[in-house]
Amino acid sequence: MKSKGSTKENRMKCPRCDGAMVFERFQATMEVFYAWRCVNCGEIMDPVVAKNRELDRAQKKKAVGE
Ligand SMILES: [Zn+2]
Repeated sequence: MKSKGSTKENRMKCPRCDGAMVFERFQATMEVFYAWRCVNCGEIMDPVVAKNRELDRAQKKKAVGE
């Protein structure tokens, strides 16, 4: 599974099953929000959580590099 030059594509992979994720609108009790949903296993990933996770990983990577 090699993806050539697809790094710029705005695609999300499921952290659980590596499946394709779609950006969907969800309706909570009082609010509407958008999140990533895995079409394979149904995992829901909040974009805010995903961003924090990315940040966390980047910081750790940097710390290890130094
Ligand atoms: Zn999944």
